Amino acid sequence: MVERLVQHKHCRQCGRVTPAKDIFCSEDCESDHKRMLRKKKNQLLLLYVSSIVVLILILLLSWGVPL
Ligand SMILES: [Zn+2]
Repeated sequence: MVERLVQHKHCRQCGRVTPAKDIFCSEDCESDHKRMLRKKKNQLLLLYVSSIVVLILILLLSWGVPL
């Protein structure tokens, strides 16, 4: 029952109980999480860039610029 009183968090990657000062339960989870974040960031960037490209194409077409 002492465990319930000890402050703890759950690992942000796998959800296991971790000490309150740690965000992740292990270095593996930390690196996994970072990898995931980087992937997400890249996907977001790709989405961003492609939407800008589409926007520019639409603008060019509306101006009557031959492509
Ligand atoms: Zn974990």
